[in-house]
Parts: sequence; C-alpha cells; structure tokens
Amino acid sequence: MAVGMAVDWREGLDAGDLSSEALVQQSLDWITSGEGRLRAILALDESISLALARKADDRLRAGERSPVLGLPFILKDNLNWSGLQVSCGSRIMEGYQAPYDATVVARLLAAGAVPVAKANLDEYAMGSSGEYSAFGAARNPWDTARVPGGSSSGSVVSVAAGYAPLALGSDTGGSVRLPASFCNVTALRPTFGVLSRYGLSAMASSLDQVGPIARSAADIALALQVMAGRDPMDSTSVDLPRTEGLTHLQPRELKGLRIGLPKEYFSEGLEPGVRSTLEAALKVLSDQGAELREVSLPHTRYAIDTYYLLCTSEVSSNLSRFDGVRFGHRASATRLTDMIADTRDQGLGSEVKRRILLGAFCLSKGYYDAFYLKAMKARTLITQDFEKAFETVDVLATPVSPGTAFPFGSKTDDPLAMYLADAYTVTAPLAGLPCLSMPAGFTNALPVGIQLIGPALFDVMLLETAHAFQSITHHHRDTPPLFRTGANHGL
Ligand code: GLN
Repeated sequence: MAVGMAVDWREGLDAGDLSSEALVQQSLDWITSGEGRLRAILALDESISLALARKADDRLRAGERSPVLGLPFILKDNLNWSGLQVSCGSRIMEGYQAPYDATVVARLLAAGAVPVAKANLDEYAMGSSGEYSAFGAARNPWDTARVPGGSSSGSVVSVAAGYAPLALGSDTGGSVRLPASFCNVTALRPTFGVLSRYGLSAMASSLDQVGPIARSAADIALALQVMAGRDPMDSTSVDLPRTEGLTHLQPRELKGLRIGLPKEYFSEGLEPGVRSTLEAALKVLSDQGAELREVSLPHTRYAIDTYYLLCTSEVSSNLSRFDGVRFGHRASATRLTDMIADTRDQGLGSEVKRRILLGAFCLSKGYYDAFYLKAMKARTLITQDFEKAFETVDVLATPVSPGTAFPFGSKTDDPLAMYLADAYTVTAPLAGLPCLSMPAGFTNALPVGIQLIGPALFDVMLLETAHAFQSITHHHRDTPPLFRTGANHGL
C-alpha cells in the first residue's frame, strides 16, 4: 500500500482488495513514524479506531456501499467526536472530553468512515501559521523549518504526510485554504451553510464553515456528499442543491469556461515566484479553451480590516462562554469574578486574548458605530463586488496567499504581518461564497496553491473545475521529499 487517493482506496475496499482495518492500521503506523517530526496530532485512541474499522469491514463484507465506508479520516481538534478530547488547541480545554458528535462527524460515522486522530490547530482556530497552538506548532512536511499554515495546521499536514486521505478543518477566513496551499493539498470551504457547524467550536459565527481536506477534488467530493445538507441543529444550514455526480466526479468542460482574474489580487504584494507559478497554471486552463478575463473587485482593499473587525467582535462574544464554570480549566479563587478572570488569564493564549480585547473594544458603546457597523457596511460592498463579477464570469481564480510557507517565528512578533497572509482568503467568506485551494506548482521547492471562488451554492461546479485541472496536471500527486524514501516514508 502506498499513499493513496481516497477514490482509489474506495475502489480497493469495494472490490475486497483492501480492508479498512489494514488502512486504519497503516494510518496509525504512519502517525507513529511521522509525529517525531511533524506534531500534527494531538490525540488518538488506536483501539477505538481499529474497532470502528473492523465494523466497517463487516459492513463491506455484507455488501453495503457508501462513498466513505472504511476510509480513515482525521479531525481538527475543534470538532466534537465523542470518542476523544476536544481541546481547541487551548490550555483552557486541555483534555476536555467531547460530550457529543458534531453533525458532520456523525454523518461520516454513519456512512462508515473511521476517525483516527484529532489534529493540531491554532488556538480556537485563530491564526495563519499553526504557531498559536498551545501544544506546539505542527511542521510543514515540505520543509520542517517552515510553518504548515493555519489554523487547520494538523489536518492539512496529516493529509500532506499521508496519515489519512481525508481530514476536516474549519475555515473562518482561510484556515483550510491557506495551509492547503502551503502543504500542496486540496481544500474546500463550502458555501456558508452547506456543512452544519453543530459541534464545531464557534469562533466567528457569521463566517465559520467546516472544510474538507484531501489530496484531490475527487476525494473531497466523496466526503462532501455524505456531510452536506440541512441540519435542524444548525439554523444557518442549507441543502446543497446538487449532490449527484459526486461519487464519480466528472471534470468540468474547460472550453468556454469564463475565468475571472480579479486585478486587485494580482497587485504588488504578490511574490514573483508565486505569480509565475500561477501564470503557468492559468495557461494550462486557457490552453484547454478556458477564457481568462480581468475583472475588478474594487472593495478588496477593505477586506482585511473588515474581516478582522467582524471576526474579533464575534470572537469576543463567542469566547465568553469559556469562564471556568462549565468547561475545562478552572482557577482556584474565593471570589467568582476572580475565578473567571484568573481562569481566562491562565487558560487562554496571547492571540486569543488580543482578539477578545479588540472585539470587546469594537463592540463597546461609542465605538460600535465607528467600527462594527462600518465593517458590516463594507461587508455588503464586498459581497456586491462578487455579485457583479459573476454577471460576466463563471468562476474566479486568485492566489491563496501572497507568499509561500514562511519560517517559524518570522511573523509571530508582528500580528499585522500575520493577518496580511490572509489578504486573499478572507473576502469570499465575507460574501459566504464557496472557494477552494488546490496545488498549482512549486517555487523554490515550496508548494503554491491557486484559489477558485464560485457563486453561492456552486460548490459542485467548483469541484468539477478543480477536477478538470487535476486531470491534466500532476502537482496534487507530488508528495513531500521526507516521504519518498520507503515504506515508513523515512520519517
Ligand atoms: N487566519 C485567519 C484568522 O486568523 C483565519 C482563521 C480561520 O479561518 N479560522 O482569523
């Protein structure tokens, strides 16, 4: 067995050539051999996972079929699976046992997928590098001196390193797409509402989405169809209008596809190596008959400010529930207010505290109109930019980040520099649009991702377009050098 694509493993399982138990055992072995270097995993329980794998094998032998039956997957540790902890990457929740299954997890479990581990992340999903995890940063398998990107750092590293063919992350302003571009994997942020957030620890509720991660769009399609659809436990959830064609994803016809290139995304800030890699990828698409058109999203320059004002405001409200009374760590103090203050002081990291303070300020009397309300208005303008663009193009193609994976420590002292890594990923979430990142090539031996953004609820079209690109390119099949040297991939 080698590092597989989920679609190939799916066939092997259905044909009886592979067993879920063997695949899950392989995942566990690779985690054991890789973790000394990568630190992508926060928790696992071999006996639970192997027992679930044996159940999946029983179902397969009984003739049952599902897109994910028997496939191993890994979960960001801000998603509840009652089998293990849900730490959210924070000391305040260290070792906290998840009390129930998130809807997306419950749906994967019901369809027979097997969770093998909980993955590292920036604390409460706040960050762009993975370095804000309270439990040490995950490393990029392409260069372990560099960050994997965040906040779904461990989930993306898990897929890139072959721990599992599928993983779930969450994406509020880029958290599956940014690390996917830094680690050469594919990640989808669905249309807002397509995946239930019930059981996902809330960061910024008007922006949070669950995001599937895999090596290819075809693999993501397997998991998406099982998880998508309305959930009475999340009032913002909606049905995906189209789920047929997801088991055997077909490539979108590229001839005549109108691809918009927003000129604001290809401006000065973009590193030259990223730009030339993207140009080569776009040429592949235009050689197949896609029409490249320049478009303008003029309010893009307000996106970072808008996102960080709204995000921090919602964070300050959502995180108030971690007070030592109901969950996790509790400081000892005689007065209640001291207990709450000490719990939060001891349990939360510096980036989380920074956002709570910024958000509380934005929402405070006298400043609410100047910051929060103004950001809401800018959000509408950003959304209208996209609506206008989609009158003339079918899909947008953009960079994912201005640069490639950066060295550890290079941005942790400068929060603004860290926030700017998100310049291209925060806009689509503000408008609720589906977007994905997929491998586009390499510069200086580091992966570069390309982002596709589609109109609301065109998630399947987006996957089909990515699949068309992946049917004629090989970048998504490239694996990190660390892992080319043998059965235990030399880690
Ligand atoms: N990097 C962005 C932030 O720090 C996005 C995080 C996310 O999508 N969870 O807010």
